[in-house]
Amino acid sequence: MASDKEIESLVTADPGLPRPNPTQSYWQHIPHPLANVRSESLPSERDYAIIGSGITGLSVAKTLLENHPTATVTVLEARTLCSGATGRNGGQMAANAGEEYMHLAEVHGPEMAGKIAKFTLRNLEKMQGLVEEYDAVETSEMQRLKKLRVFMTESKFEDFKKSIARLEKDHPSMKGIYTIIDGDTVLKGYGIHGAAGGALLPAGTVWPYRLVTKVFSALLEKYPSRLNIETNTAVETVEHDEKMPTPITSVFPYILRTSRGPMRAASVVYCVNGYSGHLLPSLRGRIRPFKGTMTVQDPGTSLPNQGKSVSWGFHYPPTYDPDTLRHGYGLYYLGQSAKTGYFYFGGENTRMDEAVSADDSFIASHSVAHLRSVLPRFFGKENLASWKLISSWSGIMGFSSDGLPLVGRLSPALTGRLGEGEWIAAAFNGYGMANCLMCGEALALMILGQKVDDWLPGAYDLSDHRLRSSLTLPEAVKALSAKL
Ligand SMILES: Cc1cc2nc3c(=O)[nH]c(=O)nc-3n(C[C@H](O)[C@H](O)[C@H](O)COP(=O)(O)OP(=O)(O)OC[C@H]3O[C@@H](n4cnc5c(N)ncnc54)[C@H](O)[C@@H]3O)c2cc1C
Repeated sequence: MASDKEIESLVTADPGLPRPNPTQSYWQHIPHPLANVRSESLPSERDYAIIGSGITGLSVAKTLLENHPTATVTVLEARTLCSGATGRNGGQMAANAGEEYMHLAEVHGPEMAGKIAKFTLRNLEKMQGLVEEYDAVETSEMQRLKKLRVFMTESKFEDFKKSIARLEKDHPSMKGIYTIIDGDTVLKGYGIHGAAGGALLPAGTVWPYRLVTKVFSALLEKYPSRLNIETNTAVETVEHDEKMPTPITSVFPYILRTSRGPMRAASVVYCVNGYSGHLLPSLRGRIRPFKGTMTVQDPGTSLPNQGKSVSWGFHYPPTYDPDTLRHGYGLYYLGQSAKTGYFYFGGENTRMDEAVSADDSFIASHSVAHLRSVLPRFFGKENLASWKLISSWSGIMGFSSDGLPLVGRLSPALTGRLGEGEWIAAAFNGYGMANCLMCGEALALMILGQKVDDWLPGAYDLSDHRLRSSLTLPEAVKALSAKL
């Protein structure tokens, strides 16, 4: 078991820039024509520089362009378009509000916990709306379905039921979202073996890479003179031009030093999730990278295709094996392609130094072997011969020390620079599809001076209180050691 000192050094390590040679994600195996889009040379000055081309960067860019009549926007991406977590995830559109509710209510009170639950559920509806608005249902293979949360032990199932009972008591309008079912129904209705019980909730599955690249493409067509995307352009440092005497300040005070030279901007928006600590060292420990492993597996004809009606999450108590030093992190997630029947299956069983890492250029072979051996067993199958591995890859998530996203303006105390023009939306704690779209939208509206506090949970902000009490290194260490 890693000591607190070891955990501390893992979570405070510099995540570095995105690795230039990531493992190949199945979602990106046919690259979008814009995968390597960029201008001949970088523009010299832009109103908004957005770093990161995942779903969060997309949402910020879209909202700025739609809500400002003239603003110029550049999206800078270290690798190819949408090559971070959004292009490497599990494709699950599901909220974790139900299982988190009890904890959130204890820490933040029932009103804020309810606001967070409603925000994530609304975000999922908006994701589905975005797919429809951009005519991407077919291409992104979106399915509206039920997610079956499966609890592998009685204690996990009991905790979940208590959390849902409290959610429904505190917020009667949310009654009926979750349907609790017993272990027998999980087996007979859905073919899942060994469950103590389960719960169904409205959810979806999607091919996120195809959605995000399609929307970026439409935005480039709609705003050709105001939007440009610069892929294969790593932002190496951000500086604030302090040469100007106060009160005179440049209109474009920020200098982004990139692998292709400098670019100036009036504001800088960080949508770099697990990599946040590289450009913003004060966030190391507060946000940590967490490496996830995904597989695509073909069960052949051994099982019916349930991809149009259900996706799955398997919850179990975290495990630790002193012989291999590997942790089981408590969750597997599974979706099935309605077209091919392929299973998209992810979850972690790795050493902590492999998991708290921003290196997606490799995957430990034991992580893949583990996912291969676990999945058939959930369906009561042991015969691996007919069950084929199609693809496997890794990707980098961003986790915060208090388990909630960070959305807002970065103060000079956090950037270490003068200026009020740096902003962030990051740390979606493995639930980006339930958070990123509306966090990006809220951030862009905040940048444009609009109020969003009636719908953006205040617990996502970067208040001094949060920075002192829960977004801290000791909390990050506690979160990791308590989970394991
Ligand atoms: C294996 C895995 C499975 C997951 N499964 C799910 C799931 O099923 N459902 C769900 O809701 N969520 C899931 N997630 C989480 C979800 O994918 C993320 O929360 C979400 O995609 C984050 O989006 P983002 O735009 O903030 O970050 P990203 O998509 O990671 O985008 C950040 C981008 O910034 C770029 N970048 C970083 N630093 C720099 C720099 N210095 N210069 C230029 N560019 C830079 C990166 O290359 C990257 O493309 C999963 C994540 C992983 C890794």
